[in-house]
Amino acid sequence: MTLSADSDLRAQLVALDKRHVWHPYTAMDRYIRETDPLVVHCALGARLFDLDGRSYLDGNASWWVALLGHNHPRLLRCLTEQAARMTHVALAGITHEPAARLASELCAVAPTGLSRVFFSDDGSTAVEVAIKMSLQYWAQNARPERKRFIALSDAFHGDTLGVTALGGVEVFRRPFAGSLLDCVHAPAERDGYSKAFEVIEQLVRDGSDTIAACIVEPIVQGAGGMRIYQVEYLQRLRELLTRYDVFLIADEVFTGYGRTGPMWACEHAGISPDILCTAKGFTSGILPMAATLATERVFDGFRGEDSRALYYGHTYSGHPLGAAIAREVLAIYKHEQVLEKIPAKAAKITAAFDAMRALPGVVNSRSLGMIGALDLRTESEHGGYLDRAGWRVSEEARRLGAYLRPLGNVVYVTPPLNIEDTDLDDLLAIVERSVSAAYSG
Ligand code: PMP
Repeated sequence: MTLSADSDLRAQLVALDKRHVWHPYTAMDRYIRETDPLVVHCALGARLFDLDGRSYLDGNASWWVALLGHNHPRLLRCLTEQAARMTHVALAGITHEPAARLASELCAVAPTGLSRVFFSDDGSTAVEVAIKMSLQYWAQNARPERKRFIALSDAFHGDTLGVTALGGVEVFRRPFAGSLLDCVHAPAERDGYSKAFEVIEQLVRDGSDTIAACIVEPIVQGAGGMRIYQVEYLQRLRELLTRYDVFLIADEVFTGYGRTGPMWACEHAGISPDILCTAKGFTSGILPMAATLATERVFDGFRGEDSRALYYGHTYSGHPLGAAIAREVLAIYKHEQVLEKIPAKAAKITAAFDAMRALPGVVNSRSLGMIGALDLRTESEHGGYLDRAGWRVSEEARRLGAYLRPLGNVVYVTPPLNIEDTDLDDLLAIVERSVSAAYSG
């Protein structure tokens, strides 16, 4: 295709897009008015390519999903091999090799005690399943008054209506006030979490009779601004919830599969939840698929009379293609020693983000595992998701060849875990230069 044909194609696609596509998490008025979108033509490894063949380092792993990079050859091969055998069959009361083996392989690498796997489609549905498991468990196991949830402010657990209740980012919740499940949000201050966990302790001590579960993103709150809290809080929370027999749900949709270093962020604290949600890295972005893992005790609460079953399930639950890919992801983690190679890369991220703290416009920075984040001086009064500061940096980054998607005034990198060292060095240099350019003069 010639260059002029490509630019015609680009213009055509953008026109169609702006006429018909309603983008997720996008203020459409602003987008239609002033965004010249990146039109991605293909993606390979840690790079996205536009129609002109320009490449961009994927500093976001495409919404934290492509943990093994784009189009890993083993995953593509697995996809075609499985597709040739079987694409979709239902998983209700029948089974197949990919689902059965995946469930067993997943339990083998999961935190201790998680021995049952319920498959769904994405992060939101994985958490939706966890909510229903908790509510129904107590409803039919002698504690029907346990209907309330506890979460952290700035928590993010997905976008279906059930899980919207658990989310603590005010701007995402506000339109649905009055239509949400009962959830109390413990206030995590910008400068620390001690107050939040004290509030949770109080809530559980005073009201454990009414609480079904407490849900957290272990150690790192992702969409709330890449906010990292201390391991001790998670340990204390586990002890507290065990003492009062309240379920702990670990939402590892973002943190799982090595994003924070170990396979699960729960491992930093040496704890196991009652229910764990995983998605994103679970299939490394090849197909939408998710899983909710539960202990034998939770599972047992659904045995007995037929009416006690978890009558829940999406059409594509346990999809053979997704399950085959998820198995291959686990195999690649093992054979390519993905987790073992993280510390050296994480050290680069930490060094770069520590150094960026000194840049004009940067208020704070932090890192853990394959996450590096910095807070910029806010442009609006309170900062938060609608702040525009991060967008100025991401526009500079795009000019320099990296794709970053900020969270308001928070600029971060969450690259594929297997990003080549030279690409990682380039990405970190681009972040530094983009912040400098955005605040120069
Ligand atoms: N939980 C967490 C911690 C997440 O970060 C996300 C998505 N960013 C979700 C749940 C929802 O996942 P999905 O977008 O796949 O529904």
